[in-house]
Amino acid sequence: MDCIFCKIANGEIPSKKIYEDDVVIVFLDINPISSGHMLVVPKDHTLDLETIDDEVLIHINKVIRKMMKLAYEKIPCDGITICQNNGTAQEVKHYHVHLIPRYKNDKLNFVDGIKDLDVDQIYEKLKQN
Ligand code: AMP
Ligand code: ZN
Repeated sequence: MDCIFCKIANGEIPSKKIYEDDVVIVFLDINPISSGHMLVVPKDHTLDLETIDDEVLIHINKVIRKMMKLAYEKIPCDGITICQNNGTAQEVKHYHVHLIPRYKNDKLNFVDGIKDLDVDQIYEKLKQN
């Protein structure tokens, strides 16, 4: 199947990977809405919230909690917005959750976004021990 997130999950396409386990991969969004914008993606292809397996959904939420903690500690950020698109709102047709770090008084606007740090800079922060 010609799916970009399947290709990222199986390593055919590079990504700025933040976390991986048997079920899920987390990487930085290539066109971030804010610094540290991550995508939490199940490795097995599924379309959306209607089709995703219950157990995988529960696991993804646990990973989201882990990534929130990481973002608060490593970036650091002041808040986090979680969202997940379906239907015409969904551009990439492989289930994914957006984890969007928020910053005090950021006045985030989902069209223009906010990017104080670029993807490479934020990747270094998240990957450092
Ligand atoms: P959505 O509208 O929820 O389907 O969002 C898809 C997201 O995937 C967008 O925020 C894109 O910037 C992001 N995206 C598309 N291709 C890539 C890629 N190769 N690596 C990282 N993020 C990507
Ligand atoms: Zn896929």
